[in-house]
Amino acid sequence: MDAVTDSTDTPPLDFRSDTVTRPDQHMRTVMADAEVGDNVIDTDPTIRALEERAAQTLGMPSALWTPSGTMANLVALSTHLRRGDRFLAPRGAHVLVNELGSAAWLAGGMPDLLDHDAGPGRPSPEAVRAAAGGTGPYYTLRTTLLSLENTHNAAGGAVTPPDEHARLVAAAREAGLRVHLDGARLWHAATALAVPPAALTVGVDSVAACFSKGLGAPVGSVVAGSEEFVEQARRMRQMLGGGVRQGGVLAAACLLALDRVDDLAADHARATALAEGLADRGWDVVPPQTNIVLAGVPDVNAALDTLRALGILVLPMAGKVRFVLHRDLTDDDVTEALRRIDAGTGDGTPSPA
Ligand SMILES: *Cc1c(COP(=O)(O)O)cnc(C)c1O
Repeated sequence: MDAVTDSTDTPPLDFRSDTVTRPDQHMRTVMADAEVGDNVIDTDPTIRALEERAAQTLGMPSALWTPSGTMANLVALSTHLRRGDRFLAPRGAHVLVNELGSAAWLAGGMPDLLDHDAGPGRPSPEAVRAAAGGTGPYYTLRTTLLSLENTHNAAGGAVTPPDEHARLVAAAREAGLRVHLDGARLWHAATALAVPPAALTVGVDSVAACFSKGLGAPVGSVVAGSEEFVEQARRMRQMLGGGVRQGGVLAAACLLALDRVDDLAADHARATALAEGLADRGWDVVPPQTNIVLAGVPDVNAALDTLRALGILVLPMAGKVRFVLHRDLTDDDVTEALRRIDAGTGDGTPSPA
């Protein structure tokens, strides 16, 4: 018996991630029609157009397309870090827990975790200053980089507003640190805060952003910084096998994705509706700031099984159940998810076993 369909004959509602979206017909058409060239030998015009537009949108001088956000972060950290360096990142950051330690074993930086003492996903400037320390004897690590994350995924899509971002960057600068920003969902932060994405990158040396998170592209991220940074980053991307040839077919999807940032507000509203619905049913939910709803349950694995049997797919995150809203889920899907929870568990409370 199929666990996904044994309690419902309709397809499962997929809240696992905003990466599960499939390119729609319009996106497939622009991909098929993209103008292309060999982007390793010289240039692919559609990748070039995307990089120029992304740089402008992110408020950075230059940008480089990468196949994934993980590669964008690795390219940036590898460019900034040397062996014997330490870098600071907020606890639970994607570069710390979801990239298999490549920041340490490939980029060569020893991570130091910062608590979220300024709010969800956010360290305080004081914590940055304290962790940065000074220069010690030759056998001590040199702290050289602060890696921020906005929105912070494991903190439930939490946003860092521009003023707090600026204070963190200033603290890092005073301590002589470079700053990288993992902005896989920077579009979501900008939407929630009603500011342009460039308002959230002020002062950083590099920023990574994804087109496959919520915007509907099947593949593609970008890493942006100075012209010199991108020159180095391009060599690193090539070393990592991220140089693709006629990548314009992929970049065309990313260009269309950039036209869809305004649609994210609807996902945020649906996340709030879902969170309120779950809270009404006695769930322990963190009120969402963007498109991610974290719910505390007594037993995460049991809750995942219960939800799966009800035709609701989710993933575990930070010891909780994570629901992610995205463009392939509608208002009706949120209503339907709550209906399935009511039908499956009587009072709506997820059965722990
Ligand atoms: C998803 C994600 C990434 C990595 O993106 P991929 O394209 O899946 O490699 C990086 N940082 C954060 C915060 C993410 O959520």
